[in-house]
Amino acid sequence: MRYFDHNATTRVDPEVIGVMIPFLQTHWGNPSSAYRFSRPVKQALQQARAQVASLIRAQPEEILFTGCGTESINTALHLGAVVGRGQKHAIVTLVEHEANLRYAAYLESHGWKITRLGVDGQGLLDPQAVKDAIREDTAMVSVMWANNETGVLLPIHDIAMCCRDRGILFHTDAVQAIGKIPVHVDEVPVDLLSLSAHKMNAPKGVGALYIRKGTPFAPFLHGGGQEAGRRAGTQNMAGIVGLGKAAELASARLSQKNQVGALRDHLEQGMLRSIPNLKVNGHPTLRLPNTSNVCFDGIEAEALLHQLDRLEVAASSGSACSSGSLEPSHVLTAMGLSPRQALSSIRFSLGIETCQEEVDYLLQHLPEQVRRLRGYSPLNQ
Ligand code: PLP
Repeated sequence: MRYFDHNATTRVDPEVIGVMIPFLQTHWGNPSSAYRFSRPVKQALQQARAQVASLIRAQPEEILFTGCGTESINTALHLGAVVGRGQKHAIVTLVEHEANLRYAAYLESHGWKITRLGVDGQGLLDPQAVKDAIREDTAMVSVMWANNETGVLLPIHDIAMCCRDRGILFHTDAVQAIGKIPVHVDEVPVDLLSLSAHKMNAPKGVGALYIRKGTPFAPFLHGGGQEAGRRAGTQNMAGIVGLGKAAELASARLSQKNQVGALRDHLEQGMLRSIPNLKVNGHPTLRLPNTSNVCFDGIEAEALLHQLDRLEVAASSGSACSSGSLEPSHVLTAMGLSPRQALSSIRFSLGIETCQEEVDYLLQHLPEQVRRLRGYSPLNQ
């Protein structure tokens, strides 16, 4: 399979698997137990916390391990709601991941007021819009670092500065940004930041929440005293050790030059050259280096994805299936695309393992598939 869906998930790095196995086979003790058998487990937990902290330039005690990116985001919003001193207004954007949007909607159903900010045609958010939306009763702001569908980067630094000045809690969903671009909490004063292991060549089912020292906290999961009383539940040790290793590998990779951006540009330019009526969705440069979201005017993305699947190419569209019919991506429609344009758009997302041959294979086959589908498409009748 030629895999162009790294924003959906990534393959676990063999080095990551290597460090995980001992925590399934040999060091399977409970990290909270006091006896010697659990000592290496406890030490590995500390080491993983330090590795994740180092990737984002945080302190180890500011890292909370969770069960996934979704749990980190839910915990952050829950925290904002609990420590909000009776203030019941939150600001999010229309292009957030469902993990954010659905929790915001849940708060809304419990009497909260939610402001959902729009973006421009290139997916950009004006930081002034956040400033203008802040009210007396604003308890928190949550804006993603990079969008999962388009890769577009949001102005996190300016928003964080503004929230800090106004004493408002600020969370960012950095699930897609982590490991792809530098994300440093010593430069950007966010209070809370969510990340997920499976987007950075580590296993599924483990994530982390960065909680800046001094930020008030209220747990989301209640039970045992794990994670310094901040998240109950025995830790997924193999997953956490894997996340730690992946963080270390990502730090090293980010300091070297890698080919992902060049390959994405090669793919995009190749598509633009060989396929007429093509439009790239999202800002051309203020984007993650690995993501290309493209509108193939006049065809249904699902049909093209099906054809690509037959050619052993995996990519995806942001459309969601709801009650048996396809809903256009909420991200693309927020950018002003018509439902029809949104349903004609496909996301190609590259990873550290993507190679030139795979990109060339895609460029070799895509134009013919598009031409055939344009001939047959019901959208062209
Ligand atoms: N936030 C963003 C931007 C994502 O892309 C994803 C996963 O697709 C998530 C949150 C959820 O992460 P997880 O799958 O670990 O729950």
